[in-house]
Amino acid sequence: MIDLRSDTVTRPSAGMIDAMTGAALGDDVYAEDPSVAALEARAAELFGKEAGLFCATGSLSNLLGVWLHTPPGREVLCDGYAHIARAEMGAHGALHGVTMRTWTSTAGRLVADDALAMLAVECGPYLVETACVAVEDTHNFGGGTVQDYDQLVAVTDGARAVGIKTHLDGARLANAMAVTGRPFSDYGRLFDTVSLCLSKGLGAPVGSVLVGTADDIARARVQRKRLGAGWRQAGMLAAAGSYALEHNVARIAEDHRSAGVLADAINAERPGAVAAPATNIVLIPTPAAPAVAARLKEAGVLISVLGPSALRAVTHLDVTQEECAEAGQLIGSLLG
Ligand SMILES: *Cc1c(COP(=O)(O)O)cnc(C)c1O
Repeated sequence: MIDLRSDTVTRPSAGMIDAMTGAALGDDVYAEDPSVAALEARAAELFGKEAGLFCATGSLSNLLGVWLHTPPGREVLCDGYAHIARAEMGAHGALHGVTMRTWTSTAGRLVADDALAMLAVECGPYLVETACVAVEDTHNFGGGTVQDYDQLVAVTDGARAVGIKTHLDGARLANAMAVTGRPFSDYGRLFDTVSLCLSKGLGAPVGSVLVGTADDIARARVQRKRLGAGWRQAGMLAAAGSYALEHNVARIAEDHRSAGVLADAINAERPGAVAAPATNIVLIPTPAAPAVAARLKEAGVLISVLGPSALRAVTHLDVTQEECAEAGQLIGSLLG
């Protein structure tokens, strides 16, 4: 099977497994797991933040990041197709009393003025007040869209000027960095908190880190425990995350080249079928998405159905360019 459903499907490499089996372990609820502590410290250092928190999922990192900034009954602003709005099962509202308003965009691309125009500041007893602005980079449902750095600067400056906090859903920030050429710290300096997935293109089996101030991360650690998500000897997973940060950030541009090969192969069969991918995600519009996905599965290629008329293929470190060329040819031949 060529599995292009998501970059979450990767298996740990031999080197990563070695790092995991050699990891020093302890009870992390007692703050005694050295491998977890090392990952958290390394992530914080990379982003130029005071502290980090290792979480089981990116959804949990986002849930805690938004919670830090948004008291019950106040709002977070985000894109209408943001992962926090669409794919976190309403957790921000269901668990934390956070309300959400969304801006619209083209392909998830942030226009800072559109977001800033929605800020609700000092509204008295009439309107919900904005507490947080959340941005996603790269933008998943937008098709792996890379945010323009100047827009990130503008939106975070504008929010900070009126006392509103900011959270970056950087699940795939490493993919964005491969395009902008900017380091983690350029993003860490803009946002109050950042979440980064280790289990997507970075290839770890599990996990995400949230970074922020020492005070914020201490509060998030308590809330994580309250949610039942404190963990014990998680060092094996953290060691995989540390390995991913060390070895798999620099290689991620290869996944973008694979996505280009995939898109070219689709378009060779069916000219103009897909747009050139921005990063590692190829969105494939087709009026018969579920049927095409079913045929592909029979032929040994797995891709995601995003809706009745949209498919998504994601490249990652467990698929080769040859496999992407083969899958692309097959996808192209089934479209139409
Ligand atoms: C995958 C993803 C997350 C977190 O997903 P989990 O499955 O909870 O780890 C958050 N934001 C974006 C943009 C994502 O693509």
